[in-house]
Amino acid sequence: MNIGTPFAVPHVCAEAQSDVSAQLRLLGTTDLHAHLLPYDYYADEDGRPYGLSRTATLISAARAEVANTMLFDNGDALQGTPVGDVTSQCSSGWSGPNPIIAAMNRLDYDAAGLGNHEFNFGLDWLGRALADATFPFTCANVVTHPGAGPEGSYLPPYLLLPRQLRGDDGQMHTLTLGVIGLVPPQIAIWDEAHLSGNLCAHDMVDTARAIIPKVRAAGADLVLLLAHTGIDTTAPRPMAENAALALAALPGVDAIMAGHSHDLFPLPARSSDGGGVDHARGTLHGTPALLAGAYGTHLGVMDLTLTRRAGRWKINGHHCELRAVAGPCAVAAAPDAEMSHAVRSAHSLTLRHMRRPIGLSTQRLHSYLALVRPDPSVAVVNLLQQRILSRAIAGTSLAGLPILSATPAFKTGGRGGPLNFSDVPAGPISLRHAADLYPLPNHLCGVPVTGAELRDWLERAAICFATQRPGRPEAMLRDPAVPGHDFDVIEGLSYQIDLSAPPRYDRNGALINAGAQRIRNLCFDRSPLRDTDRFLLATNTYRAQGGGAFLRTRRGAIAHVSKRLLRDEMAAEIAHTPLAPPENYSANWCFSPMPGNSVLLNTGPALRSDPAALAEVGAEDLGLTQDGFLRLRIPL
Ligand code: MG
Ligand code: MN
Repeated sequence: MNIGTPFAVPHVCAEAQSDVSAQLRLLGTTDLHAHLLPYDYYADEDGRPYGLSRTATLISAARAEVANTMLFDNGDALQGTPVGDVTSQCSSGWSGPNPIIAAMNRLDYDAAGLGNHEFNFGLDWLGRALADATFPFTCANVVTHPGAGPEGSYLPPYLLLPRQLRGDDGQMHTLTLGVIGLVPPQIAIWDEAHLSGNLCAHDMVDTARAIIPKVRAAGADLVLLLAHTGIDTTAPRPMAENAALALAALPGVDAIMAGHSHDLFPLPARSSDGGGVDHARGTLHGTPALLAGAYGTHLGVMDLTLTRRAGRWKINGHHCELRAVAGPCAVAAAPDAEMSHAVRSAHSLTLRHMRRPIGLSTQRLHSYLALVRPDPSVAVVNLLQQRILSRAIAGTSLAGLPILSATPAFKTGGRGGPLNFSDVPAGPISLRHAADLYPLPNHLCGVPVTGAELRDWLERAAICFATQRPGRPEAMLRDPAVPGHDFDVIEGLSYQIDLSAPPRYDRNGALINAGAQRIRNLCFDRSPLRDTDRFLLATNTYRAQGGGAFLRTRRGAIAHVSKRLLRDEMAAEIAHTPLAPPENYSANWCFSPMPGNSVLLNTGPALRSDPAALAEVGAEDLGLTQDGFLRLRIPL
């Protein structure tokens, strides 16, 4: 790996320091999540509106338009599709370089930061992947031991990238861009199994504040933050996960590329959001900023008009925009042919794996209605988790505890769009279907929990719904700020969700409405659940280690972790028992009735091919939205 020259001798400019102006275009991708091609490995279909091969076409066009360009990636590049998963496992037979890094090498990135998901496959794997890169990575706030400063950082805390810019005078001039990478410190929780004892993470804002003057002193003319973090307009807090606003406000930051939340910024149609967020100007607290979605759907383009006076470069003007690879009004950017060719061996190995038959499903399993009813696609995952865990703990001291299971539906539309749903056919199924139901590289775990903790868990899960006011018919069901995969359903309990009550917790697990309770009539085995009842809960490593702040009281009390990926455990289980939801799954949960109220749900149009499911929830088909979602009205 070329690790750059973070502590290089300050660049001393011998050339005549006459005043000059120049245009510099910074291009950015973020959260590619291993989307190399426009290929949906779960549906086994080509032609999707995403993928770095499409973004590559936009990158070429954007480079051709101006003389001076640089290209950056902002992390979460390596994990997220079966290509990333399959090529990360030695057992799959992959022996080449990391295919995402190899594709990025071809695009000649100038530098990249890390995202939280880069740590999902462990540090040995990450080290090998980064060593394949011909461009440098930076990450300032991850260090190798507690209390270490930037000199103890895992990767270079910053990079100095000297570049020759063609000035408006036609001459070449040197500009050194300082680049600082930052990643949410929550990695220490989310990937505790890999990081504990190896790496620690510090607050992003504190780290940046401390390091920016050093980057300047080391010779940076301008400072760009590659901040794998989203835009959160609530009050700043220590160790914040989404800190792009606070980072943009720091003195000495010239530009910021944000990410992680998969949002889009700027969206010129949205005027100023207030709180420092200015879509019209493309700034966060006045600093030029981009947040280019995810999966290669968008290329971030930041044009900077620079002037150098008395030897000092300054930004005199800027324009920030996102270019989409496809959209309602845009012709889709065709995939770059050379890149498609270059990644073909990783692609075909992935297809071979994903098409491997694993067993049978007794019925079609889809997640189009997973947020409005006890859903067969969720119930089968919970059933598998329960079975796998009970076998794993047989004969141990835990074996006497009743086993419950928690899982969300992982694909429920949202920012992933109208195709972002699981949909597994009845009949023979392949590994791709198991991956469709369980797309994340999690491991199964068993956590001892009390009745009180389960109630809290469900209250936290239920925050993904907007509060419904009696007598107000037609409100959206979902709170758009909360992803659908926060909605854990616990199999083995029965309960109602009262949408007239406000959420009890926020996404960080903070108690925001102490008097509020959405979870009603919570029962185990037909009797009200007591706070002191004890259970073993089957869940995944991400959740059990604190992801989403579900288990607030006894983080880390994990009794069992599966050796293999949960998805592989599931595939093995399906091989000898056909996939079918448990008999009583439909008694799991329901919304508390609100007669006269209905909610609106945006779901996938493919639900139209399941009229029985539409009828079951009393859904009325309101047609397609502009983004291609099927909108339903559902009575409460
Ligand atoms: Mg992320
Ligand atoms: Mn991401």
